[in-house]
Amino acid sequence: MRDTMKAAVLVGPSRIEVKEVATPKISPGDILIKVSACGVCGSDIHMWKEGKGWSQTPIPDFRMGHEFCGKVVDPGDSDFKVGERVVFWANLYCGQCDMCRVGKEHLCREVHGQNYIGFVRDGGYAEYFAGPAKNAYRLPDSVSDIDAALIDPLMVAYHAVKNSDMKLHDKILVVGSGIIAQLMGGLIQRAGASLLAMSKINDNQMDKARELANFDVYLDGTDPDRIKKYNDVSGGGFDVVFEAVGNEQSIQTCLDSVRPGGQIVAIGNSATPAIPFSLNTLVLNEIRFVGSVSCSREEFKETIDQIASGFVKPEKYVTDIIGLDGLQAAMEKQVSPTAKMLKTVVIP
Ligand SMILES: [Zn+2]
Ligand SMILES: [Zn+2]
Repeated sequence: MRDTMKAAVLVGPSRIEVKEVATPKISPGDILIKVSACGVCGSDIHMWKEGKGWSQTPIPDFRMGHEFCGKVVDPGDSDFKVGERVVFWANLYCGQCDMCRVGKEHLCREVHGQNYIGFVRDGGYAEYFAGPAKNAYRLPDSVSDIDAALIDPLMVAYHAVKNSDMKLHDKILVVGSGIIAQLMGGLIQRAGASLLAMSKINDNQMDKARELANFDVYLDGTDPDRIKKYNDVSGGGFDVVFEAVGNEQSIQTCLDSVRPGGQIVAIGNSATPAIPFSLNTLVLNEIRFVGSVSCSREEFKETIDQIASGFVKPEKYVTDIIGLDGLQAAMEKQVSPTAKMLKTVVIP
């Protein structure tokens, strides 16, 4: 194996360059993989704009990428074998704190909503990746590399729907049209909603949404008359509303469209530290408002099983497949207001 490899390095604000960098070496407990595919996530955009990761100390030749799979090249001291296909779970959980001990590793005290591979340490936008064997999971043959690159967003969608109050025949609204919103649409459809609506603010991702046909209706989140329209469509409000955008307008849409006693599940990350919202709408209608992030370690494994069994086919959500050298253009495209891509996957 060569001492150097190609990596898409974050060199400065809004700038990724493909560089020849040192091939990573494994530490005790690590394995080395040749990366097969890596999904491009919306959260990469924030780091790309700032030109740095979330680590306190700058990492030389830092590359992002937290949605990846590959083939084991060096299993180190683990029981993996050379050539086995694995997917990495990005959560750098401790395994010892109170949350980890009750199987909520995604709420680990050491994770703090930010301690992830590809954020605080090098990720998968490279030919090779070295990281903890305890975060690697074997992939069945029925899960393709492209499928595996979507396990990360699928686990987010799965955790949100699975832990919601949704029941058979409920009326459900998903606010947002990005990949998480559309993957949730697929799961909610399978879970048996009597009405599944999407609230969108533009038409960028609608070609793909219509092709996937997960939703029964598409509602316009910018319509000044939307409160009445949403109410009419749902016959008095939705039972459960999933929020997958994370801004003031979308939170308000949730509060305006959920039925009294209904539930709002917030998945979207806010770009600002605080968002104002009408507390009285929540209080006086006894709306249950819950957050949802990532998934537990057990649910990560279940996400792999869902794809392996054919319950979900994530490949069909992919709109763009690129090489490492296409990442800079892909990031620029993602921030353009007319971007049509739903999910981009990098094959290094
Ligand atoms: Zn992601
Ligand atoms: Zn922990």
